[in-house]
Amino acid sequence: MASAVGLQDAGVLVGDRWFRDTSGGTHDHLSATTGAVQAKVAYAGVDEIDAAVAAAVAAGPAWRATSVSDRRRLLGRIEQALLDHAEAFEIIQTLESGVPRMYTGGSAELAANWFGYYAGWADKIHGEVLAPFPARGLDYTLLEPYGVVGLILPWNAPLTILAFKVAAALAAGNCLVLKPSELAPFSIVRFAELALDAGLPPGVLNVVPGGPAAGARLVEHRDVAKVSFTGGIATGRLVAGLAAEHVKPVALELGGKSANLLFADADLDSAIGFAAIGGAIAMSGQGCACPTRLLVERPVYDEVLDRLVQIMAAATVGDPLEVTTAVGPVVSEAACQRILGIIDEAKEQGSGQLLTGGHRVGGDLAGGYFVEPTVFADVDHQSRIAQEEIFGPVLSVLPFDTEDEALAMANATDYGLAAYVNTADLSRAHRLAARLCAGKVHVNGFDQAPAAAPLGGMKSSGYGREGGEAGLLEYLQVKNVFISIPGM
Ligand code: NAD
Repeated sequence: MASAVGLQDAGVLVGDRWFRDTSGGTHDHLSATTGAVQAKVAYAGVDEIDAAVAAAVAAGPAWRATSVSDRRRLLGRIEQALLDHAEAFEIIQTLESGVPRMYTGGSAELAANWFGYYAGWADKIHGEVLAPFPARGLDYTLLEPYGVVGLILPWNAPLTILAFKVAAALAAGNCLVLKPSELAPFSIVRFAELALDAGLPPGVLNVVPGGPAAGARLVEHRDVAKVSFTGGIATGRLVAGLAAEHVKPVALELGGKSANLLFADADLDSAIGFAAIGGAIAMSGQGCACPTRLLVERPVYDEVLDRLVQIMAAATVGDPLEVTTAVGPVVSEAACQRILGIIDEAKEQGSGQLLTGGHRVGGDLAGGYFVEPTVFADVDHQSRIAQEEIFGPVLSVLPFDTEDEALAMANATDYGLAAYVNTADLSRAHRLAARLCAGKVHVNGFDQAPAAAPLGGMKSSGYGREGGEAGLLEYLQVKNVFISIPGM
């Protein structure tokens, strides 16, 4: 295994001070590749979370008063710092999550793009002048930051998700308390170090690693004015419930079971490659928008299945630090057991025909959390493997005969995060884009989350948007001012 590099222990950041002896205790972090302890993480307990929120409150007035030009320049310096440390972020994320370098590579550049994009917004935030009736004065709106925003991050693609939230929230003038996932705090901690070095004033961004208790404390803290959460639906429900008790606005970016519609007229080479890599190989299916439900038009169904199996069989499974590895481990032993349990249940219940995969990888990789890329064909659309986010390398494939049938199946889950259409028929592409219930529809390809394009879910995949102006407005509240002008 190529393991000359390692992770540094992660602590709690309050203001500009790092704490390693914390009330949440110190916890081992295990390598997904080997199962061995690879670093320690100090969890924030109530004391550290309260101190982090207090630091953010204290930093608020000065940060809000910082000129928008200075704020823009600062975000630009963070953008540059991300670019300068791109390779380090690639390796840290691979080590902390087991996601191969093939996919963590480029994530710092992507995150940098988001900081550059929102740097450009920092000096363009404005309200509007209204026309009062009757015209007795001046009526206008102000867009104001919330104050302290709590950001709760998932373990997968942590730096990218951080950038989605932090760049917009800082451009809008908020102070932040970030709670990274207990499974992947190291890239977030490294980011915070670089942001301080880039000149971010102490207290504007605080980091509180920890598990569910830390997240819940942040949501219920009375000085946290808004929460933005990315994670699973079950956790999202808890977060939304807790926020509702405190009448606190919350944005939820949750999971998906995204349908990938492959029509017989599509460019099959590219569509099948994407279906295989996106559906079960890249990040072992551990991406919120992975196309894990493949719906194939009947005339090309058998050909697509044959070629999917060939691609899965050829994918290199192994050490995620090796640049040629296509399939790494899943994130934890618990995730591995959960995924294998879902596969076994599907086998027992006859939910589909297992074409390839379906087992834990043994041999040299037995100590890690490796699951074979797995394809089920002829899947029962009501079954769990067709309806539930598995967050593992399991692709469910179903045939269809008509466009309407494909559309009905695509929309028949609780989720609505992303959808994919592969077709040469432009009219069909537009028709489906309008009728698919998903926050993002991709036609004949996939884009890498450009910062100008809003992302987010419909139905149980959540509410709120990240990216573009919509993503900025998540971190601003509208105030209306009326000034009476006698004699006007
Ligand atoms: P998770 O829901 O297990 O955890 C997410 C975060 O919530 C972690 O920081 C966790 O510690 C915290 N948390 C757990 N319990 C909590 C509680 N009771 N109160 C407050 N916080 C709590 O999700 P995960 O396994 O880290 O991430 C995978 C999930 O995230 C998948 O469902 C995936 O689809 C989703 N995701 C969505 C997007 C998106 O943009 N829509 C992006 C990435 C991941």
